[in-house]
Amino acid sequence: MNLRGWQNRRTARSDRWKRENDAPRLRDEVPQLEALRLNLEEFSGGHRVVGTSRIQHVVVAQASSRFEIPCGDSKCEDGGHDLTREALQQLRAGREAFNGSSVCSGRVGERPCERTLEYAFQAKYQR
Ligand SMILES: [Zn+2]
Repeated sequence: MNLRGWQNRRTARSDRWKRENDAPRLRDEVPQLEALRLNLEEFSGGHRVVGTSRIQHVVVAQASSRFEIPCGDSKCEDGGHDLTREALQQLRAGREAFNGSSVCSGRVGERPCERTLEYAFQAKYQR
C-alpha cells in the first residue's frame, strides 16, 4: 500500500471511532436489548472470501448505537458498510433475527470495490 492509501485508511478508521464514540449508546436507543450477535461474511464476484466469516458479540452495556463495519479488503479506500439505520430500525421493532447484504462503496485503485457484506443479526430482549 502506498503512503497516501495508508494515511487515508488511518484517517477513515479514526473517523469511524469518533463517530462511534459521539453516537448515543445502544442501551439508550434500545433499552430492552439484552444480547446481540452479528454473523458477518464477505463476498466478491459472487464467491465467499476465505477468512472473512466471523461472529461479533456486541457488548450491549457499552456499545455504540452505530453499526459501521469496515471493508475487509486491505486495499479498499473509503469503503465499509453502515448498517446503523437498518439495525436500529429492526432492534427497536424487537426483531430477534434479521439479515441482509451491503455492497461496499469504496475504491480499490481506480476500480470500485464492490465487495458484498452478508450480515445476520441475532438479538435477545428482556421480557
Ligand atoms: Zn471495500
